[in-house]
Amino acid sequence: MTTSFSHLSLAEPLARAVAEMGYESMTPIQAQAIPVVLTGKDVMGAAQTGTGKTAAFSLPLLQRLLKHENSSTSPARHPVRALVLLPTRELADQVAQQVKLYAKYTQLRSAVVFGGMDMKPQTAELKRGVEVLVATPGRLLDHIEAKNAVLNQVEYVVLDEADRMLDIGFLPDLQRILSYLPKQRTTLLFSATFSPEIKRLAGSYLQDPVTIEVARSNATASTVEQHFYGVNDDDKRRALHQVLRRQGIKQAFVFVNSKLGCARLARSLDRDGLKTAALHGDKSQDERLKALDAFKKGEVDLLVCTDVAARGLDIKDVPAVFNMDIPFNAEDYVHRIGRTGRAGASGLAVSFVGGNNDARLVADIEKLIKKKIEVEALEYDEDRPRERINEGRRMYQQGEGRPAPRERERERTEATAEGYGRERRSYRTHSAPRDPFFDQPYQAPAVDAAPAWEAAAKAPARAISSNIKPKRKVAALFKAADPVVS
Ligand code: AMP
Repeated sequence: MTTSFSHLSLAEPLARAVAEMGYESMTPIQAQAIPVVLTGKDVMGAAQTGTGKTAAFSLPLLQRLLKHENSSTSPARHPVRALVLLPTRELADQVAQQVKLYAKYTQLRSAVVFGGMDMKPQTAELKRGVEVLVATPGRLLDHIEAKNAVLNQVEYVVLDEADRMLDIGFLPDLQRILSYLPKQRTTLLFSATFSPEIKRLAGSYLQDPVTIEVARSNATASTVEQHFYGVNDDDKRRALHQVLRRQGIKQAFVFVNSKLGCARLARSLDRDGLKTAALHGDKSQDERLKALDAFKKGEVDLLVCTDVAARGLDIKDVPAVFNMDIPFNAEDYVHRIGRTGRAGASGLAVSFVGGNNDARLVADIEKLIKKKIEVEALEYDEDRPRERINEGRRMYQQGEGRPAPRERERERTEATAEGYGRERRSYRTHSAPRDPFFDQPYQAPAVDAAPAWEAAAKAPARAISSNIKPKRKVAALFKAADPVVS
């Protein structure tokens, strides 16, 4: 069901903002949720990321708050009336940006508060007064405790990505925040996935909610082509290169299970000559936003990330998602692959199934998405010996064996598919630093040179870098008069 926004009779400032966004028709979650939220009822919405759920709750909330809009400079005239809670900073930032765009032509004020940033500017904004507050739970509690945020006039609460909020240890924070709110309020709860216990928990926060489900809960986007390849843990990087090359992928998210693995993989891929950025919880907020921005601008090809850091990010047109590790939590699989195939575009999700527990984790995903998963074998292109490439180039340049023009197109496709001819590869690489050792012509060693092993034995001790302090003898550390070990 997709209908026009004009059916909603949105107030003119909101309709103008929507028109400016270029939205032609409502997405299914919007078509179902907006009319319900406009009536003031509680909603439990199951919608995948990328379905337009931010507008689905923001537009009707703003419409209902319009009765409070005023141009007064007094903070008392701008109390917090709607609170939107999200589990991660990036997600909070993203939702707040969208709310600002929708509220652009109204006098309603909005602000976002999340951790990892200086509290002072957030405090100043809160003290001026805001009607819509977007926040992550921890930082919001800091502001509540510092008396910067007063929530006793809140009429609407939105819990977005609710499964994650209840899941990653937010529950006590969430309960405390909810205890500061008036009992009489509207609660909207959105989540991509709904496990039975989350439904039960949600049930205790919502009053007689209208359940809206636009996609079967826990379904994976139907526009995403999913592949699972059986790959040795040591070969996963090679496998990634292989799929990128064969499919001609320009940009991708690459998921791993740990922060350490994330940093390591990003470094290795960067060394391989791919423009790579890492996004994980140990990165500062500023670094995370910069990495995202670089990816959005196309300055970065691969964004290697962990689940928490990447949750719910709305980056359009990510052609592919790779799971270097199978996620421990099957629901994270749904979220990860929800980064691609958004808003009707087709996407590719590739998961590398290695050793250890992977078979069991894949079985969990199978159960969750209710689809049979075939683990395929991945075929690698043979690494083409350098001489053959050079010989091929020479022949091509001299016209020997050069194909007729009609054949050239086919050859180009095949060459790209096989990964030959780096200049035609459609994922960009920045040139890896050249190593003069490999560039210089081969020189036979002098005949009378000592064998390598003997040379190594006689070699003088390596000079120590000025950055490394020479080790002091253990005895010296104990200030022994006579060293125990000579
Ligand atoms: P969300 O699921 O809220 O993260 O939204 C995903 C993306 O869809 C955002 O970039 C929105 O700007 C975009 N979007 C939301 N509603 C519509 C619509 N009705 N038509 C086209 N794009 C939309």
